[in-house]
Amino acid sequence: MIAEQGPETIRAGDEGFEGAVVDGVFNAMAVDGRPGEVVRPRTEAEVVRAVRDAVAAGERVAVRSGGHSWVASSVRDGGVLIDLGELDGIAVDAEAMVATIGPGVRGKVLSAALDAHGLAFPVGHCGDPGVGGFLLGGGLGVNWGAWLPSCFSIRSLRGVTADGELRTASLDENEELFWLARGAGPGFPGVVTSFEVELRPAPAAVRVSTWTYPLQELDAVTRWVTEASAGLAPNVEVAVVTQGVGRPGGAAEHPLVVGVAATVVIEADGAVDTDALAPLGDGAPGLVPLERFEGPARLSELHVPVDATYPEGARYLADTFWTHLPLEQAMAPLEELIARAPSGKSYVLTGMPANGRGAELLPVGEAAYGMHDTTLLIVYVIWDNPADDAANRAWLDEVAAALLPTCTGHVLSEADIRAHPERIARSFREVDWPRIKELIARFDPDGLFHGFPVTTRTTTPGAPRSPAL
Ligand SMILES: Cc1cc2nc3c(=O)[nH]c(=O)nc-3n(C[C@H](O)[C@H](O)[C@H](O)COP(=O)(O)OP(=O)(O)OC[C@H]3O[C@@H](n4cnc5c(N)ncnc54)[C@H](O)[C@@H]3O)c2cc1C
Repeated sequence: MIAEQGPETIRAGDEGFEGAVVDGVFNAMAVDGRPGEVVRPRTEAEVVRAVRDAVAAGERVAVRSGGHSWVASSVRDGGVLIDLGELDGIAVDAEAMVATIGPGVRGKVLSAALDAHGLAFPVGHCGDPGVGGFLLGGGLGVNWGAWLPSCFSIRSLRGVTADGELRTASLDENEELFWLARGAGPGFPGVVTSFEVELRPAPAAVRVSTWTYPLQELDAVTRWVTEASAGLAPNVEVAVVTQGVGRPGGAAEHPLVVGVAATVVIEADGAVDTDALAPLGDGAPGLVPLERFEGPARLSELHVPVDATYPEGARYLADTFWTHLPLEQAMAPLEELIARAPSGKSYVLTGMPANGRGAELLPVGEAAYGMHDTTLLIVYVIWDNPADDAANRAWLDEVAAALLPTCTGHVLSEADIRAHPERIARSFREVDWPRIKELIARFDPDGLFHGFPVTTRTTTPGAPRSPAL
């Protein structure tokens, strides 16, 4: 199908085909379905060509940038997988405070490159995801209370739509495509070839404070954090994590723990607020922490301890739950569930954007990403042995059953959307979902792109979309 001098193409049956499909996927959990071929463009022109070839051949298209979709949404049945891993350029215009970045750039690589210019961008908390999927999914990045989800720092993007045309999208040009690109994630009907993003001056300082307590103190710890939150500024990000025996990087003598990490990003042009963490005091009142750390950090290195909690080669399930409840009530069901998780590596991470005021600070309606509430719980189920798949799935189902009654929505990028396609619609504001469906159908009327990973969807181009959507 692809003529000479086109992008590198590996077809089903070729040597290396299986590796080209699965080696770039972070999650070791296997997914069914294989494309007919994998195309690896090195330039924007080769992406255009790959899309046009797929249209001409009547093949559907799946897209991959960094391969960090938990549900491996780039692995689909039939058609062409366009792997953008080699589109990883970074061009910084320090004077204009913008960078043009390829979708295959990893967050940690971008952060280090900007650090060298005295600049910063809200990359993800983990360093390895590609900016392609991260930004399209909204992007919950460092300092997200103050800097907002990272998609709000996209100035414009270039991409190939289903008609094979290369387009620029911004607030002034192809506005609807731009609106969709900031949050629609795997539903985005196009292939983004580059993003132009707004940069910030590197912070004047970053400070990190952490406390670790026994898990049985969960109530007291979450009460302390909930009460302190009211006095914390949006540039203080507090994460509470419950962890089991096998927590990566953890101490064996403290089997079940709850950790609290507070990170303050002090803006270069702001007053240096040395008291930003004062509302947290010395920790949970009356409790002596098992471990304690307080000290300076670099923004471009914040990902290092986070990356350690996601071991390579492991099997993963992930799911997310927004709730209107304050942290203390939101986490109440977790102590007992965490204590009997089949894998001690699994953990629950919570965030409160802008310390519980995230819903007020989000520019609602400006982009497809619009779902924020008081508290976010993210469940990561992590294990190694395929024989334990069913037990770990059953445990996640139990956790979900405990959290769903008070859940107001999900985060598309980290929700268990293959098993629960209904989580896709609930990752958006109710009022935005009909518009998202309408725009996807308008930009991709024949269903060229596989889109949201709903396994029930047929692979025939032009076929009706899943009733779940
Ligand atoms: C270890 C780990 C840590 C994570 N931490 C965070 C975090 O801190 N914050 C956060 O918000 N998310 C986080 N995520 C979720 C992550 O941001 C999403 O899974 C994101 O989609 C990954 O991007 P990717 O390009 O690596 O993924 P891919 O698997 O390559 O892409 C996912 C899907 O996005 C679409 N897509 C990707 N690139 C393009 C493109 N250029 N054009 C069109 N469509 C495209 C495709 O549909 C693709 O199938 C984490 C995930 C993992 C595995």
